[in-house]
Amino acid sequence: MDISSEKEKNNVDAKMHAAETVISQRHDNISQVLNSGYALKELGLYEEALKEYQKLFSLEYPKIKILIKILACLIKFHSHDKVIQKIQEMMDTHGIKGPEKDQMNHMLGFEMKKRGYEELARDLLKLAHHKENQGGTTGSKYDYLIKEKLVNLEQLQTALALSKKQKKSVEQVLIEKFKIDKEQVGKSLSKYSGCKFKSFDPDFPVPYELISNLKQSFLLNELWIPLNWDKNFVEIIIDDPKNLIKTDRIRALVKTKQLIFSIGTIEDIEAYINHFFENKKREDSAASMVFNDTFDMSPNIEPEKEYRTSVRENLVDESSGQIVRFVDQVIITAYRDKISDIHIEPSSVTKKTLIRFRRDGVCQEYISVPNTMARAILSRIKIMSNLDIAERRLPQDGKIKFRRKGVPEFELRVATLPTTGGFEDAVLRILAKAGAMPIEEMGMTDRNLAILKKIIVQPYGLILVVGPTGSGKTTTLHAALGYINKPGIKIWTAEDPVEITQAGLRQVEVKPKIGLDFARVMRAFLRADPDVIMIGEMRDFETASTGIEASLTGHLVLSTLHTNSAPETITSLLDMGLNALNFSDSFRGVLAQRLVRKLCTDCREPYHPSEEEFNEIIEQFGRDSLNKSDIKYSADLNLYKPKGCEKCNQSGYSGRMGIHEMMEGTPLIKKMIKKQTPTDELFKQAAKEGMYTLEQDGILKVLQGFTDMNEVRRVCID
Ligand SMILES: [Zn+2]
Repeated sequence: MDISSEKEKNNVDAKMHAAETVISQRHDNISQVLNSGYALKELGLYEEALKEYQKLFSLEYPKIKILIKILACLIKFHSHDKVIQKIQEMMDTHGIKGPEKDQMNHMLGFEMKKRGYEELARDLLKLAHHKENQGGTTGSKYDYLIKEKLVNLEQLQTALALSKKQKKSVEQVLIEKFKIDKEQVGKSLSKYSGCKFKSFDPDFPVPYELISNLKQSFLLNELWIPLNWDKNFVEIIIDDPKNLIKTDRIRALVKTKQLIFSIGTIEDIEAYINHFFENKKREDSAASMVFNDTFDMSPNIEPEKEYRTSVRENLVDESSGQIVRFVDQVIITAYRDKISDIHIEPSSVTKKTLIRFRRDGVCQEYISVPNTMARAILSRIKIMSNLDIAERRLPQDGKIKFRRKGVPEFELRVATLPTTGGFEDAVLRILAKAGAMPIEEMGMTDRNLAILKKIIVQPYGLILVVGPTGSGKTTTLHAALGYINKPGIKIWTAEDPVEITQAGLRQVEVKPKIGLDFARVMRAFLRADPDVIMIGEMRDFETASTGIEASLTGHLVLSTLHTNSAPETITSLLDMGLNALNFSDSFRGVLAQRLVRKLCTDCREPYHPSEEEFNEIIEQFGRDSLNKSDIKYSADLNLYKPKGCEKCNQSGYSGRMGIHEMMEGTPLIKKMIKKQTPTDELFKQAAKEGMYTLEQDGILKVLQGFTDMNEVRRVCID
């Protein structure tokens, strides 16, 4: 089979996978298994993928499809016979028997034929139609010898025992001890493998071109070596041409249109390897040191190492197709599942690299892969985001513009951090490209929305949105800007980074590394005739004071701050050293915000809270504030709790909404700011004027059935 048909097979797999992901979106469990199985397979972790796919037997998934997936894994690490045997066993285990089994074998046979595994297809079809496995192609290496009565089973067993003891191949024992003609042994091997048998020939010309990139120790461990070539093919001698792992690896290393395999005894192959390298060494030392190790692309694997480790070590290269596809797969899956962040976390404790997704604000495990791949994954991500691959000791940040067929173009912000054990973590945030959210859809109470609409249309002044990272500040600012974004108004924004784009806005991304910080962009804006300025964050005195100046000279300024509550924001800006008089003049309002997960409306469960539970909630809300609301305990009062269904990934929650604390710059509040009144007094006054705290706003939303108390408590811990 040549490389193009191999590609064809991968294509078939990828297409099937894409189609199935769509179909199975209703069954989150199934799609999870499919996704991780596919990812593991892409990584070459076929055994792990197989285990993953086996889970499908307990889910409602067509058995034939499961078997096809399992078969595709089995052929990667088992010999032909073993594949057939394993798949039959699997059918037995899962109660597939009689005519159903025949049918499965029949269908599997056709699937394998489609993928170019002719031999496997033939044997499966034979099984389906109860035909004897005739001919030497599926039996053991020694079928011919037994059939010709050159050796019996007992002798073979003795030969096997001797071969282990003397560390010789069974073939060699048969030749030396049982005096079986080497030609006959060769004939048996040839019949078994369908390949030509080759003996060692010391006069065989050394194929220097072919072995220049290969290491002797590697080949002695692998037991194969190129013998011969022309423009159409490369001939390889190998101990078992039916070992698909080996032959696939050879295909990956020896890039040629066609490989022709010959079979040889282990001793003869070793003789070829040693012979070729003896000669090569002589040649090498005669030549100068021009061809040094930089040309050595082959993995340097010591013979002692276990086979499986060597397969894995092979993967550790960021440019390998598997790593490239794996990273793409992770990103695309995250994008499709509306994940906000991807966390890549190698652990020196578990020896695994965990990949977690943050969905609706909460992290969930997606997949874990061996640590041997961590560096390659990190390097790949660094390449994609134009970071320095060689720098592993310092944090870095960058951006990926992700363009792939089948998904709309989007961007990711990337941060890498050195972690213990010499590893690096990476966090990738998927930047939403959705544009601004309508101001009415943010889940604000009528009072808060009315205030926001009132202050956002003012010709000048300062409006702040505050809260910790990930509390939706930028979304709110863009929603507010969207409300006033009209051709008659010039709006400049400075953001780090630009996460939401809106037509009509002029958006600048700050780059502190080159000195383009908020303060500098802000000064430039003032020369660029703005009506409205949005400044991503008031991190320092200079930005804050420039912002206030701008807001006093006929511009509306919007910004964010990392403060917890609305009244606290005032105090912390004054603490920064801002002029209280200027600030109070410019101040229009401050909105503190958090995001809570919304209960999944498909599965949330209504329940009638006990009076005790209700009182507890009221206590938390504050009895004093109660008269402002119309909350009462009654027999038909219902609250909701999360349950979990397929639609919400069994989490019980789906989507998020804001909870808010809106303090308006009323004349009285402005007066208090001028006098630098302490936070608690500002708070009391604001409450008197109708402000609900974040927690109170959250409780109102609990009583309306949007969310639950756990969520409100989770985000309101200060
Ligand atoms: Zn649900």
